[in-house]
Amino acid sequence: MITDFDAIVIGAGPAGATTAIRLAQAGWAVALVEKRDYPRRKVCGECIAATNLPLLDALGIGEAFRDIAGPELRRVGLFVGKRTIVAPLPPLDAGPYRWGRALGREHLDTLLLGRAAQVGASVWQPWTVKHEQRDGALHACDLVRTGGSDTMRLRAPILVRAHGSWEPEPDAQAAERAPHRGSDLLAFKGTYRDARIEPGLLPVLAFSGGYGGMVLGDHGLTTLAFCIRRDTLRAQRSRGPAGKAALAALDHVQAHCAGVRDALADATQAEDWLAAGPIQPGVHAPWRADGSFAVGNLAGEAHPILGEGISMAIQSAWLLCDRLLAQGAGQSPRQSSPARIEAIGRDYARRWRGHFASRIRIAAVCANLAMRPQAAGALLPVLQRFPGLLTLCARAAGKVRQPPDSPIGRITDTIHNGAQQR
Ligand SMILES: Cc1cc2nc3c(=O)[nH]c(=O)nc-3n(C[C@H](O)[C@H](O)[C@H](O)COP(=O)(O)OP(=O)(O)OC[C@H]3O[C@@H](n4cnc5c(N)ncnc54)[C@H](O)[C@@H]3O)c2cc1C
Repeated sequence: MITDFDAIVIGAGPAGATTAIRLAQAGWAVALVEKRDYPRRKVCGECIAATNLPLLDALGIGEAFRDIAGPELRRVGLFVGKRTIVAPLPPLDAGPYRWGRALGREHLDTLLLGRAAQVGASVWQPWTVKHEQRDGALHACDLVRTGGSDTMRLRAPILVRAHGSWEPEPDAQAAERAPHRGSDLLAFKGTYRDARIEPGLLPVLAFSGGYGGMVLGDHGLTTLAFCIRRDTLRAQRSRGPAGKAALAALDHVQAHCAGVRDALADATQAEDWLAAGPIQPGVHAPWRADGSFAVGNLAGEAHPILGEGISMAIQSAWLLCDRLLAQGAGQSPRQSSPARIEAIGRDYARRWRGHFASRIRIAAVCANLAMRPQAAGALLPVLQRFPGLLTLCARAAGKVRQPPDSPIGRITDTIHNGAQQR
């Protein structure tokens, strides 16, 4: 069976669901394909910067988000060795929301997907895109029901890839997968009750061979999420009894960060550990030669040391939808020629780099410093003397207002002005 749409979006994380909501709100016929059943947990620190809260309002889930998210994140910390350094997080300088908050991905992603269905997107879940090809001017995606054998072909002139960067691409052959390297960063997440962490504090963890973060989120749960080099984890496992990789990784983190050890001293594990990776930091390809667009992690991924991935996922989707909706104004996407779609793609890729490439570079510098104890040790006296440098880092990483000439800045202004006039 073949079904035709204006756009197919692969993956319903924050990037894909945002794309589907905005295009469906503009009247497009959108198919949103997600291979997992929701709600589903995900490796993530789950902190959402304040810049996104007006966007969540515009998407229609702002109130639901605010009802359940954890406390406002007003302070940033650094846990390194025996030291803890704390500084204020910069507030967003305009609009109704000053501070970010944390919300479990099982809630955030479910809210976004539910909203996409509500505004008219056709949700295919749990279906996996297995294969893609061109069918004349259209993209054709072959889907298989996850865990089943039903198949389906969807076609559309616009294909938006939002399937993240930690899993093989549709059509990827086993032989194409990158070989394991000692420098690969594997990601873990643990969830705790009764952890001793100050509400509203966002500590960054720096330890030999990795980095991470901890935060009090929704329902009184604390999330501990971190990345650790494959060779560091292997060495740690070889020193202890055979057991779960996550527990060996946790031992390593606790041995190098007294702040984590103290916070978890009386805590109880609330959920199973999750693992993912290796992560793929770097600028990837917002626009591809096969005529498809990429948003979120697949377009480019920041080291998650500064917790900016969800922001970049939502904001890159926003940027793309702006380009698609503005340049296709008054015209059905089914009438767009491949040349016109390519022009939109090149424009989107250029703007994407302007917005996100520097954030990816700053996160890479911070991650590389955090993972090297000597570098972190040399910086410690400076940071202890000038903790405000942590505030500056958070600002440089994009935690606060976008430049006023950016489309996202303008959208935020429009939403703020609308809110003030109401
Ligand atoms: C340790 C760690 C901590 C982090 N902490 C934070 C933080 O505090 N704040 C923050 O903002 N970011 C954080 N991040 C980053 C954040 O998790 C990602 O940047 C974000 O999830 C990217 O969103 P996305 O929509 O691009 O992709 P994803 O969230 O990965 O979503 C992709 C979706 O596509 C689906 N999919 C994949 N393949 C297919 C297919 N073939 N067919 C159909 N569906 C498919 C998947 O099931 C998934 O639901 C962290 C990351 C790590 C590793």
